[in-house]
Amino acid sequence: MISPDHSITAENMRFAPYWWDAACPSASENGPLPPVADVVVVGSGYTGLRAALLLARAGRQVVVVDREDPGSGAARRNAGFLGRVLKKSFLGLRNSRGLEHATHVYRELDQAYQTLMVFIAEEEIDCFAARDGRFIGATSPAHYELLARELEAVNKHLGLPYAMVGRHEVRKELATDIYHGGATIPDLGSLHPGFYHQGLLERNAAAGVMIRGQTDVTGIVRQNGPYRFLVTTTAGNLAARDVIVATNGYTTARLGWWSRRVIPFQGYMAATEELAPELVRKIIPHRRVVIDTDTNIDFFRPAPDSNRILLGGATAGGMQSADEIALKLHAIMALALPDLRQVKLSHVWTGFCAGTFDLMPHAGGRDGLWHAMGYNFAGVTMGSYLGHKIAQQILGDPEGRTVFSQDPFPTMPFYRGKPWFMPAAMKYFDWKDGKTARTPLDRLKAH
Ligand SMILES: Cc1cc2nc3c(=O)[nH]c(=O)nc-3n(C[C@H](O)[C@H](O)[C@H](O)COP(=O)(O)OP(=O)(O)OC[C@H]3O[C@@H](n4cnc5c(N)ncnc54)[C@H](O)[C@@H]3O)c2cc1C
Repeated sequence: MISPDHSITAENMRFAPYWWDAACPSASENGPLPPVADVVVVGSGYTGLRAALLLARAGRQVVVVDREDPGSGAARRNAGFLGRVLKKSFLGLRNSRGLEHATHVYRELDQAYQTLMVFIAEEEIDCFAARDGRFIGATSPAHYELLARELEAVNKHLGLPYAMVGRHEVRKELATDIYHGGATIPDLGSLHPGFYHQGLLERNAAAGVMIRGQTDVTGIVRQNGPYRFLVTTTAGNLAARDVIVATNGYTTARLGWWSRRVIPFQGYMAATEELAPELVRKIIPHRRVVIDTDTNIDFFRPAPDSNRILLGGATAGGMQSADEIALKLHAIMALALPDLRQVKLSHVWTGFCAGTFDLMPHAGGRDGLWHAMGYNFAGVTMGSYLGHKIAQQILGDPEGRTVFSQDPFPTMPFYRGKPWFMPAAMKYFDWKDGKTARTPLDRLKAH
């Protein structure tokens, strides 16, 4: 048991997402579930709400249910980075599946990002969506070379912009000396996850979607008749023509087929206390979001709505208490950003992402039972995109076609949704990163 260390944490540090200060999940309207619906959506994050919105606007009667208050999953806990990358690199995909497939996947990743920005603008969702760019810090000279090769290939085949940053220029992007150079992706962006989700909730309510929190789905059973599923929940049962499972890293064991296909892993984040504006400008001069090239990444960003730095890392580190998380994340911050060594953390929090056995997101279904999940840390764009695609598929719109529906959704023998292998897998990733990576953070991770 680790006790609070008030040299690194504020007296009133909150064990809750920073985003919740301005956009806390709240209880949905009460009331009984209707006996039937055209579509029942399980999960009220971005995936569920983007699907529900399109379906309701197309005239379907849609009910979204969530076992917690709406938005209590990763939707209001994430870092708000908007990207177009996966854990599978473009070159890795090209080598395993060929150039055409890799180009197709990365073209859709870009489309997911671009369409999200258009959606937010058209819907006038005020969520600090901005294209300030991303800086990727290379954790070793070898990673720098790999990054240069990857970005050059993406630029050649998709025309997407980037600029390499030499080791001596890193401080123009981030007040650190730990990286061996890096790259900027100037057009990538970020948002405030809480406000984006709140905007989605409001658009859904206006479109007539019924949203019910504190409603845990305990079973989805096929039955005869036009309402071909009986959805059993802790708040009563309802029948539906179509069901979408949109539960990502929070998929419960009772959702058996899906829980055998996603690997929940816990992410950790922290926010600093309010800083002087000039200190934030010194730390991240161009207000870009920052990640590194490791498999188990560390990441930093300026808060969009205050003078704080937000950071994350140590994914799947098995930490449970606020004090443990604060100790680890403060150590990361002090090593990476020495100007913040004396700064205290005001918030720490955690949330669940979903990995998959092929490191790819999956969306699909048939005969009325649909899913979209497994975003491998890229769910703000991909959840939004694939939620929308699934709704298009249900509506029979050919625009719903996506490369992420093509491959079977893999599982592993004996896997039942409890990733007992995760600590060992993360140790392996840290060891692998540590073999080539050469930053003080990698030494911290290896211990
Ligand atoms: C710390 C952290 C940082 C991250 N940073 C980024 C980032 O910067 N950029 C990015 O793109 N992605 C990021 N992610 C990932 C991203 O947040 C997720 O991929 C995304 O939110 C998934 O959205 P979703 O709608 O599919 O699922 P969620 O928002 O997680 O919602 C799933 C919902 O399903 C509900 N549910 C589960 N089981 C049941 C059931 N049986 N009955 C009813 N309801 C159920 C849960 O209560 C939950 O509300 C991060 C994740 C974490 C945890």
